[in-house]
Amino acid sequence: MSNIPVIQEIVESYKPIWALNHAASIFGWDLETYMPHEAAKSRGFAQAQIALMRQQRVLSLAESISKAKKLGNLNDYENGIVRTVSRELNYFIKVPPNLIEELQRTETEATVVWREARRKSNFSLFQPYLEKIIELKKKEADKLGFEGHRYNALLDIFEEDLTTIDVDRVFSSLVPNLKRILERILSSGSFPRNHKLEEIGYEEEAMKHVNQEILKILAMPDKRFRMDVSTHPFTSGLSLDDVRITTRYEGKSFRETIYSVIHECGHALYELQVEHAYEYTPVAGGASLGIHESQSRFWENFIGRSREFTKLLYPVLRKNLPFISQFGEEEVYKYFNLVRPSLIRVAADEITYNFHIVVRYEVEKKLIGGETAVSEIPSIWDDMMEEYVGVRPKSLSEGVLQDVHWSGGMIGYFPTYSLGNVIAGMVNNRIQQDMDLHDVLERGDVGQIKTWLREHIHKWGSTYSPKELQQKIFGEVYNPDHLVKYLEEKYIV
Ligand SMILES: [Zn+2]
Repeated sequence: MSNIPVIQEIVESYKPIWALNHAASIFGWDLETYMPHEAAKSRGFAQAQIALMRQQRVLSLAESISKAKKLGNLNDYENGIVRTVSRELNYFIKVPPNLIEELQRTETEATVVWREARRKSNFSLFQPYLEKIIELKKKEADKLGFEGHRYNALLDIFEEDLTTIDVDRVFSSLVPNLKRILERILSSGSFPRNHKLEEIGYEEEAMKHVNQEILKILAMPDKRFRMDVSTHPFTSGLSLDDVRITTRYEGKSFRETIYSVIHECGHALYELQVEHAYEYTPVAGGASLGIHESQSRFWENFIGRSREFTKLLYPVLRKNLPFISQFGEEEVYKYFNLVRPSLIRVAADEITYNFHIVVRYEVEKKLIGGETAVSEIPSIWDDMMEEYVGVRPKSLSEGVLQDVHWSGGMIGYFPTYSLGNVIAGMVNNRIQQDMDLHDVLERGDVGQIKTWLREHIHKWGSTYSPKELQQKIFGEVYNPDHLVKYLEEKYIV
């Protein structure tokens, strides 16, 4: 920890900010799970007030931070404290309150309009709002400042120090490799494009029981963790001893709920395994969205979709879902690992998922760089989907209007999904230098995997920036080769 007075002062002053974050997280969790419909207005008001109090508290740290920045010889923890608080402070100092307020108001309105536009498959309803958001995001980027592409300022909000150079480098290797792997899979026919299990309905109660069994297989700590139901699955890290996930039950194709549970458990484990001494400090959360997503993807795909995990899961499925008796373990494994080019990002397989991200990344880069107008986006989108994914949307609701992110002003967010896959590939490669993962999973010893992740990644919280953390663990950053190698071995060799 720290003996330096100014660092102690920052940590002490951060406690009420932590408490405001805690309250805002519970408000957010409640809004998505149990809040009555009519409470939306008062909840929105309370959230805005909390955001304002937070902003003032963060700004009050300016002097201490500038003093701390002048000190030499800080240890990693102290550097982490200064770095994370500086990032928040920098945002509030550079982006004027009226711009923050205008962004929030526009995003709230745009999200409501986007829902209607998606339902009606009508882009022109959403277009003026997206135009406004792009204009405001450009202003935000200009206020924040950047080197190189203007989009870098927005990427940095979600993934510290990330630039278009990094993302271009990742995709220029990932895309051709994934295309090659996809062609091989599709021509071999070894992984089917459709499966009967996708159409079979299930009883929600039985499925809830299966998910409880999965939590036991993953040894989730039931006194510090809970699972509920929401429209879109998410994880909420309220504190190091209170992490909550949600899932949803669509009534058929049971893998959707299973993999959302495993995915969110990956996020939850990260939050649960941060060093306890960091509680209430600025470094008590994950390092970045990309690192966070690497944890959820590692558990969902590398662990959850493996043969060994299918073997662990099969008896549970057999016991709770009567229709499973018609399908052997190998059939269920194939159902878990179908590969097919499709239109909807969230339903995409391990390989084609990244193509969906490239499309969004290229479109965002053009919009923020002022190379294209919002009105041109639907046709650019459809052409790019055809080029990368190999399918052309028949409607806008299954095309350009499918994701919530742009209406919420989350521009620069999408790349972190692919970076999560890339980093999960790096974790998979690195962890196998220390253990035989197949053997460990064969024995169902997830504890060994969790301990490894805690010691190498989780315990640090956000002490290190995502690039520093990757250097420390892997000696390299955002290297897509390990993901490609894993996919080749799984699907081709
Ligand atoms: Zn996730």
